[in-house]
Amino acid sequence: MTSQTAVWHPFTPMQSFLEDDVPVICAGEGFELIDTEGKRYVDGISSLWCNVFGHRVPAIDQAIKAQIDRISHTTLLGLQSHISRELAERLVEVTPQGLNHVFYSDAGATAVEAALKIAVQYHAQKTSPAQSRHLFVRLGDSYHGDTLGAVSLGRIEAFHHVYAPLLFQTLTIPSPGASRLPPGMTQAEYARYCLDQLTNTLAEHADQIAAVIIEPLVQGAAGILVHPPGYLRAVRELTARHGILMIADEVAVGFGKTGTLFACEQEHVCPDLLCLAKGITGGYLPLAATLATSEIYDAFLGPPAEMKTFFHGHTYTGNPLACAAALATLDLFAQAGTLENVHANATMLAEGLQQLHDHPHVRQVRQKGIMTGIELVRDRAQDLPFAAQLRIGHRVIRVAREKGLIIRPLGDTIVLMPAIAMDQKTLERVLSITLESIDEALAEC
Ligand code: PLP
Repeated sequence: MTSQTAVWHPFTPMQSFLEDDVPVICAGEGFELIDTEGKRYVDGISSLWCNVFGHRVPAIDQAIKAQIDRISHTTLLGLQSHISRELAERLVEVTPQGLNHVFYSDAGATAVEAALKIAVQYHAQKTSPAQSRHLFVRLGDSYHGDTLGAVSLGRIEAFHHVYAPLLFQTLTIPSPGASRLPPGMTQAEYARYCLDQLTNTLAEHADQIAAVIIEPLVQGAAGILVHPPGYLRAVRELTARHGILMIADEVAVGFGKTGTLFACEQEHVCPDLLCLAKGITGGYLPLAATLATSEIYDAFLGPPAEMKTFFHGHTYTGNPLACAAALATLDLFAQAGTLENVHANATMLAEGLQQLHDHPHVRQVRQKGIMTGIELVRDRAQDLPFAAQLRIGHRVIRVAREKGLIIRPLGDTIVLMPAIAMDQKTLERVLSITLESIDEALAEC
């Protein structure tokens, strides 16, 4: 018999969690999770936004098993490995042109930590002129992970206010994806306002800003906030004009979720630093990558005595099993049909969710590719939220779980993040259970 309290679950109010009858997952197959009672659930959030081709995918399983027969772990500190090199070359090939170097770590947050430290050190070591730049520009409601650097860049007030004294200073600009506009502003005026704020902030602090960090096209953890077309491109042009680095955090949006392999492609943007994690291994193993341009990489070269080295790294950096899973994942992407499937599934989701457009408790349905957020409110006409203690989002996902679907809310926004390769029959179940669960949970209130 094991103790339920031995595991302290992340982002989980443990007391109510332990009072709840939470399934114990012991297996997976395709797009389903299986619990110890043998009950099957559709994995509607791709096991926290990272599963790509389903569970127990033969090609990925085989790649990991074959790698186990060679070696499971060896360090990249002072040694090389073929598999980490092969993956780095493949990542350089598939990411926007200009990103030529891969720094490995093991989570989205660590990919971001590496990026922000590289940005500061780059400015300090650039040959002419050397500059000390320590400010970062971030978008309101952005999220970049839970280590302290990442929290400084992407804090969510409700979660992170207690750490405020530990965080470094940033410049926050309004998110163009904000779901509530300032009173009296139209959507077009607000988009203009956001661009003006970005323009003015960069101009005013240009020689102090190390980088602007952005979740390209969609702010996921804020509740699937979709940016207007052209915004990402504008960020690229403005940062380039001032010699400010652009960090694209594609931890959530990368690997197909918005309809292209990387979201930056849709606006023909090459950032200076690109953060990848989650889907990089098909959702199998922890691996992350921070890609950099040659201009950045070159600023770290020089004799050891010059101390230009990037003194940063984690024990499992470039772990061979994870690299093997990532290579198999990229092979599967290269086979025809995966990104086409995203388009078909995105259309099916959009059509299926049409019926919520007049729902009295649905304030907005926000979607880009397969990333979907359904925001619930007590009164749509007056835009009144539900009382937080009602935990409406949580109630909906509990009903869905009973019906055989695992989803997870962000507050009162129900998030659907099906694996991008999900078949349409399974997606239909995701849709129908979600719609039923919303109505049943709301009827109980
Ligand atoms: N960046 C973004 C945009 C994310 O959505 C997340 C996680 O959801 C992270 C970073 C952090 O990733 P991880 O949980 O792997 O540290």
